[in-house]
Amino acid sequence: MRIVRGLLVVVLTLGIVVTHITAPSALSPRAEKPGHHLRDGFRNISPDYVYPLLGRALRVMRQGFEHGPVRGQAPVVLANNGADLRANGTAPTVTWIGHSTFLVQMDGVNILTDPNWSNRASPVGFTGPRRLVKPGLRFEDLPPIHAVIISHDHYDHLDEATVRRLDAVHHPTFFVPLGIKAWLAGAGITNAVELDWWETRKLRGLTLVCTPAQHSSGRGLSDQNRRLWASWAVLGPDRRLFFAGDTGYYPGFQEIGERLGPFDVAFIPIGGYSAYEHHPNHVNPEDAVQVFEDVRARLMVPMHYGTFDLNREPFREPPDRLLHEALRRGLEERIAILSPGQTIHW
Ligand code: ZN
Ligand code: ZN
Repeated sequence: MRIVRGLLVVVLTLGIVVTHITAPSALSPRAEKPGHHLRDGFRNISPDYVYPLLGRALRVMRQGFEHGPVRGQAPVVLANNGADLRANGTAPTVTWIGHSTFLVQMDGVNILTDPNWSNRASPVGFTGPRRLVKPGLRFEDLPPIHAVIISHDHYDHLDEATVRRLDAVHHPTFFVPLGIKAWLAGAGITNAVELDWWETRKLRGLTLVCTPAQHSSGRGLSDQNRRLWASWAVLGPDRRLFFAGDTGYYPGFQEIGERLGPFDVAFIPIGGYSAYEHHPNHVNPEDAVQVFEDVRARLMVPMHYGTFDLNREPFREPPDRLLHEALRRGLEERIAILSPGQTIHW
């Protein structure tokens, strides 16, 4: 009995010692990995997030059999030779080049988002989703580019030929989420700032914040979700911009609005949802309006539609649904649906 009691004391003492040694590091927030980090990559953090691969494949196949993509009238590209943009000093402008590519001018800094001037959103030039609408501004007509913001590594957002050419001609600083700096280095691009969600970096008086999104990444079969995906905030002395990247709807946008809002303008995707009523990785136009309200922006500019043979929606469907939802909510005067090549002041 005495031996058993003695053993019990030893076990209890050991237990306390072990607990005491392990507890601080296990509970310390610094030692904890952020919720979106995995050992070999990243994941989405919403508890409701599911990505039913088989269901999606079946839906896409069925849609393909029932009706191929019926596009209708393509967006009309407005003539823009870039002269006003090159002459601009500090006036804040936004120009839609197409898909998720914008030229942003704020406080004398020229920024491109997810730049893509290629004819296909694909690893190779001879196949893959074709460009259906030409870029709204010729690459040669760009003003000097100081910064490039990349949301994630999918081909429509990270185009190797375009980033190589930008690096060679403009020598910008590339702002990328975790994992993409090494990919850029592989392409010979070394001037990159790589951030995790909520990390910030200053450039020429602006503060760039890497913010969360709900999406995925990967350029092949072996690198799925190995590099982080993100949205971005660009904060200047008197203008604040939000670029939603590529994303599904989730409550994280409310946190972005609370921590960094209100924004003067928000670029929000509205295409790519068609295989789902609620696609986990792509907002539909109605969700996009909710993102706009969540982040507390004054003006919404839609993106991620009407450019590549990627999304299955007809050209007019995403902007028409967006306008319908904006009218329903009385927000129509705060939505700017741009033509490719169109510049607005904000
Ligand atoms: Zn994507
Ligand atoms: Zn995309």
